[in-house]
Amino acid sequence: MWWELARIMMREIVVRCDERGFDCHYSTIGDIYKVIFDYGDHMKKEHGIEYSPGTLETYLKKRKYN
Ligand SMILES: [Zn+2]
Repeated sequence: MWWELARIMMREIVVRCDERGFDCHYSTIGDIYKVIFDYGDHMKKEHGIEYSPGTLETYLKKRKYN
């Protein structure tokens, strides 16, 4: 099915809050756009910091490991 192929192509990635220097155990997994949305939402609600989606996307794409 096409969505299975799409799922393979959009590899799942993990973002952990502590990798960003926070003392926080939050993590989220999914394709890059889900992660950007979830993590941006978490940052705003839990840490009071607003990340623009572009900032997070750039960070995730630059990151060496995924
Ligand atoms: Zn956090």
